[in-house]
Amino acid sequence: MVPAMSSTSRRRELGRGERVVPGVWRLRLPLPWPGIPHANAYAIAAGDGVVLFDCGLHEPGSLAELERALAQAGYALADVRLLVCTHAHSDHYGQAASVVDASGCELWMHPADAHMRAGIEDPEARLARRFEVARQSGVPLEPLRQWSDSARERGSGIARLVEPDRELVDGVVVDTDLGQWTVTETPGHAPSHVCLHQPEHRMLISGDHLLGRVSLFFDYGWTPDPVGEFLRSLDRVDALDARLALAGHGRTFADVRAHIEANRALVAQRLERVRQAVAGHGPITAYDIVPLLHGEELSQLTAGWWLPEVLAYLRHLEVTGVVTKEDGETERWGLA
Ligand SMILES: [Zn+2]
Ligand SMILES: [Zn+2]
Repeated sequence: MVPAMSSTSRRRELGRGERVVPGVWRLRLPLPWPGIPHANAYAIAAGDGVVLFDCGLHEPGSLAELERALAQAGYALADVRLLVCTHAHSDHYGQAASVVDASGCELWMHPADAHMRAGIEDPEARLARRFEVARQSGVPLEPLRQWSDSARERGSGIARLVEPDRELVDGVVVDTDLGQWTVTETPGHAPSHVCLHQPEHRMLISGDHLLGRVSLFFDYGWTPDPVGEFLRSLDRVDALDARLALAGHGRTFADVRAHIEANRALVAQRLERVRQAVAGHGPITAYDIVPLLHGEELSQLTAGWWLPEVLAYLRHLEVTGVVTKEDGETERWGLA
């Protein structure tokens, strides 16, 4: 969900496979991220093997956790016939190279994956860019240098770059024993995000677009307006009228429409709070808006999550004519 949170020592979870409905298994894969104990992959029966949707973060021991979860579903890595990634974040795509190497399967993913490639092809340039965005957003040099150093030490969580064999764009179909799953592009959380819909069973593989616990993350800086894109993606998924969501984290859930409504309401509430912060304190930096929005100063733990989130709200308020950016060494925002 959040590719930049820090690791801490903790009791390690184990990979687990559990049946959702006949032919569909949820694979719970441990994550080293505080507050996000695991990511879900899904194995869905297809002929003599499975289609694997997402594959978890790459770190020492992580492939064994995926194998353990698959084994509980009755499968081995060699049984993976196709790997489909909902988006190019490390906790969904990180082990793609390992899965492709072990099974010889194809990888299908959306082509708007520059947000991931940048970190793999030139990690130092990617870090430098994030550093610069944070500095311009008002984050003081200390602790910024320290956060940047620890991000460098954490690494990408991606085994290596593996090129998709097929681009997951609107209308592409994935065949399984349960029927066909059709791709709907759902950018917002990440530019490369897609959901997959199975109309007869009204099931939706929702990735991080819709989670059991409503939680917002925006991959900022790659598209014109991630918040606007996310809201339009909610409308697209709403129209599918799914009744069971297989989410990228947490439990599967049935009240899909209520989750969509809750996401809309939370985005509206946070946009309004950011507008109020700008109205009451502007010109103000994104860094100074964070505690007004979340009630807490930005920290190493939240920097990679809350700063892009606030920047994404400001951007949406800018494109909708509500706020305006005052250029300078440090970017400050005022009412338009
Ligand atoms: Zn994600
Ligand atoms: Zn995720």
